[in-house]
Amino acid sequence: MTGRTTASPTEPGKTGMEIRRSGSQPSGKGPSEWFTGVVRVDPLFSPDEPARAGAAQERPSVAPKSMQAIAPGLADDTDRVLFGDVWLRPQLAPRDRSLVTLAVLIATGKTAQMGGHLGRGLANGLKPVEIAGMVTHLAFHAGWPNAVSALEVIERTFTERGIDVAALRRDAGTPGRTTASNRVGPEAEVPGAGADPLAPRFAELTHDVIFGDLWHRSDLTPRDRSLVTLSALAAAGDLGGFGEEVRRGSGNGLTKVEIGEALTHLAFYAGWPKASAAISVATKALDGPAPGPKVQVVPPGRSPVAVPAANFTGSAFLTSSFKGTGGASLGGGTVTFQPGARTNWHTHPLGQLLVVTEGRGWVQAEGEPVRAITAGDTVWIGPGVRHWHGATRTGAMTHVAVAESADGRSVVWLEPVTEGQYAGP
Ligand code: MN
Repeated sequence: MTGRTTASPTEPGKTGMEIRRSGSQPSGKGPSEWFTGVVRVDPLFSPDEPARAGAAQERPSVAPKSMQAIAPGLADDTDRVLFGDVWLRPQLAPRDRSLVTLAVLIATGKTAQMGGHLGRGLANGLKPVEIAGMVTHLAFHAGWPNAVSALEVIERTFTERGIDVAALRRDAGTPGRTTASNRVGPEAEVPGAGADPLAPRFAELTHDVIFGDLWHRSDLTPRDRSLVTLSALAAAGDLGGFGEEVRRGSGNGLTKVEIGEALTHLAFYAGWPKASAAISVATKALDGPAPGPKVQVVPPGRSPVAVPAANFTGSAFLTSSFKGTGGASLGGGTVTFQPGARTNWHTHPLGQLLVVTEGRGWVQAEGEPVRAITAGDTVWIGPGVRHWHGATRTGAMTHVAVAESADGRSVVWLEPVTEGQYAGP
């Protein structure tokens, strides 16, 4: 029990404690294969390209006759800026611009302008089945009435163009299925998923239909669904979950440049204020810290607190404590023990890593001799091993302590280390 009696040679795997002296195992070459030499940063917004006046001059006017007659300035902007520049910008493919435009028109019920843009979309490479898939997707995001109104225009346009609507029904996307690998995201991030008490069926539908089926249907890729969703939400000004959708879109393959360009494009169809608000949220979502910081740097000695007297003997304090984010169960902090200070006997359910940063100290696992540790040493204490650590009688010691918690507990405190037990090796 005292730990000073059995001085058998220690074997890490057997005793549950291992000490590595710093520098005793110099590393080989660095892991250069994990890095590439060139890092590219895609700005959310690219500098404007020179206006394509030449292209506009060559093109026949696409502005409606009424616009040319009543608002010639707007007609000029339509030809020169919208169709002569924005639609031609290479940062977003024409097909994607059609997807954005149609999503805005459908989500905001602007059916009068849909016919022309359906034709343009087909010319830009949108497949009829993708257009149908987009309407199905938007029924959930913008409501059934908008989808029904859009389908009337789509059916008329497709019929005029000789597209076999019956074949479209046969080709309709197959329902998807949620598996561990294709999950769209945690339900906690889904708007409505937390609405159980008030609307349990809504929460079920959100989980089962939208994120269990809709996002996995075969008639539109996840990337296109993100583009359509972002366009519809931005156009409607529904920005509550917009940042999350932007991150989802990023995960589904949309680049920052494409997202920025889609929102710029959308300004012409949903209005500047809607685009501006969406761009603001998107910028924060892409550039700002994710929920919980991506990288947290804590200076040494931050927020010192005295350790609980019930679990320690002598004077010790804790600084720079940290807790893992995003579901990580890792936590810890830096503990400085004044001369004579030590922990109680204790165990860690999932073990503990100590990294000695200053001074010299002692550590002991039950049934083993006390061992000296010094700055640079790393100490691994196995799960459930009874042990204590602290300063020497004459000098202070500081270590970083890191442990995972199980069921919210990273340590189980036991009785104090007696004066008789507290002695050097
Ligand atoms: Mn410990």
